[in-house]
Amino acid sequence: MIVSEKMLKFGGNSAIRAMFEEGKRMAKEFGPENVYDFSLGNPSVEAPSKVNETIIDLVKNEDSLKLHGYMPNPGYPEVRKKVADSLNSKYNTSFSAEDIIMVVGAASGLNVVLKTILNPCDEVIVSAPYFMEYRSYVSNYDGKLISIPGLKGSFQLDLEAIEKSINKKTKAIILNSPNNPTGVIYTRESLEKLAEILRRKNAELGIDIVLVSDEPYRELSYDGYEVPFLTNIYENTIICYSFSKSLSLPGERIGYLAVSDKIADREKLLECLVVSHRILGSVNAPSLMQKVIERCIDIDITPNVEIYDANRKLLYNILIKAGFEPVYPAGAFYMWLKSPIADKDFVDLCKKYRILVVPGSSFEGEGYVRVAYCVSKEMIERSENSWFKVAEELGLKSKAE
Ligand code: PLP
Repeated sequence: MIVSEKMLKFGGNSAIRAMFEEGKRMAKEFGPENVYDFSLGNPSVEAPSKVNETIIDLVKNEDSLKLHGYMPNPGYPEVRKKVADSLNSKYNTSFSAEDIIMVVGAASGLNVVLKTILNPCDEVIVSAPYFMEYRSYVSNYDGKLISIPGLKGSFQLDLEAIEKSINKKTKAIILNSPNNPTGVIYTRESLEKLAEILRRKNAELGIDIVLVSDEPYRELSYDGYEVPFLTNIYENTIICYSFSKSLSLPGERIGYLAVSDKIADREKLLECLVVSHRILGSVNAPSLMQKVIERCIDIDITPNVEIYDANRKLLYNILIKAGFEPVYPAGAFYMWLKSPIADKDFVDLCKKYRILVVPGSSFEGEGYVRVAYCVSKEMIERSENSWFKVAEELGLKSKAE
């Protein structure tokens, strides 16, 4: 077998991708207007016009050799400074350009961090349900993922269980808030308590647990919910940020790491993060996109957030009216919907009415499904009838007036 044993264990496509492919097949068969694809977290709102204008201007007016050339592995110094300044003005932090490393989206950022900090068998805690790629990323560096279920119903962090799971092998905890798949935002109180626990355990066990904050949805919060900035709460924090969702640029692969200036072993860590970036083969973040970020980082994305917010309310109301029990999301663009039957059977039943959603078991969140509402408003409206039919077949009590 030409493929390694380790890779064979990963199997084929992810459940999300498989569902997305199924959506495309169904659209061909039934017509795209008759399929309601809520499977993928692909932004449905266009990138702000300034992003496209900046790309055109850069390509037209910058020195082409420089624009498309190699640069220092952590990114253009002026772009890193711009990111640091932007964060400092928004969050009252004290980053310098050195603390910022431009990366190839959050997926790359997480891999750079985990490669840099994990020894084989080191443990990484996550709160379930979680973005399923974490398991693969941790396994890439022979670490061990320790999954702790979130609190029942609220999906906030179960701090007691997290504390109990910490031992000498604990190297990191990955947090994702606003959360994919639940839409939950962790409260400031719970994050401050978590920081106290981590500090206490660090002192007790003589370790330095790293808080890896995966933040592709940082700006996507609704109703004024606060998304606390974690380097201000816990010193050993590395932020993995991505512009995939905030600027609707998932295919362009651009993000950054922001390393707390108070983190343990800072200098060595920064040096090795850059080496990881290089030897993982990503080398540097896309040059053109770095230059775009330099000019567009402070764009006001409120209009985009308002569109997702309107989708959130529309979908929630349909689901409630049909008799379902969704969790009302505080952020991101996913609805976590309680499954009245086994989640895989529920997914199949939805498919019968041409609704595509992802089973909760794909996120270690059995008993729920994820409904991505980063879709068009029209598609949500058209899907209403199908949701009611699914509910009817399940014998749910409709709350329609
Ligand atoms: N982390 C979470 C929680 C995500 O939902 C995603 C993408 O959907 C990523 C990371 C990867 O994002 P990127 O496109 O920046 O690699």
